[in-house]
Amino acid sequence: MNFHLYHYAGIGQRSDSELQANNPVKYIDPDGRVFNIIAAGAGAIVGAGVGAVTTALAGGSKKDIAAAALGGAAGGALAGFTCGASLVVTAAVTGAAVAAGVDIAINAYQGNDLLDGVDKAVLGGGVGGGVGYVAGVAIGTAASELKYKPSKNHSITQGRVGSLKTEGKPNSSIDLYDKKGNLLQRRFYGKDGKVTIAVDFSHGNEDGSHSFPHKHVWDWSKGYPQRLPE
Ligand SMILES: [Zn+2]
Repeated sequence: MNFHLYHYAGIGQRSDSELQANNPVKYIDPDGRVFNIIAAGAGAIVGAGVGAVTTALAGGSKKDIAAAALGGAAGGALAGFTCGASLVVTAAVTGAAVAAGVDIAINAYQGNDLLDGVDKAVLGGGVGGGVGYVAGVAIGTAASELKYKPSKNHSITQGRVGSLKTEGKPNSSIDLYDKKGNLLQRRFYGKDGKVTIAVDFSHGNEDGSHSFPHKHVWDWSKGYPQRLPE
């Protein structure tokens, strides 16, 4: 085994445990599509539940509770479209606005005073939207990490300029972080130590054509490493 091939994983003078200690901010997938759908669904369910319970506790009527549930679901689902790029406040305001709109519409339909119970629906929708958003982002992030789960033999390196190497420790994976602690790249090496899959978490995206994270498969059939397009 050639130890020099992967010795850069030792990260200069810093030990692995040191790096783990001030470990890089947990990565939030900015616009990975599959995870967005998972996150939107989870956010909507949690947002609806929290919105409904909050309005019920505030003494809202059935229509207020229903309006808050819809508002909470809308705010929570927002996590799926923005997935961390937007703010919790945005989701809470969306939830409150949708809840208010729905409650006013039901009042109009039932011939009630238009503002009847709207304050309680707004409260529930706002809280549901905010909590649903947080849940959605958390679940989307967890799903994305699960999909590209590091191998048991995993190491990290930080501050290295450029890409990770095409050969490494057999049956291992390695992460590359920039100096600010953002995860840029993860590579998996097969039993011969040759890179098999590379996951890009962030790189230049001027034309907006990439979504992150995405993977590249490496092909060695020609005797040298070739990175196939995402
Ligand atoms: Zn890429």
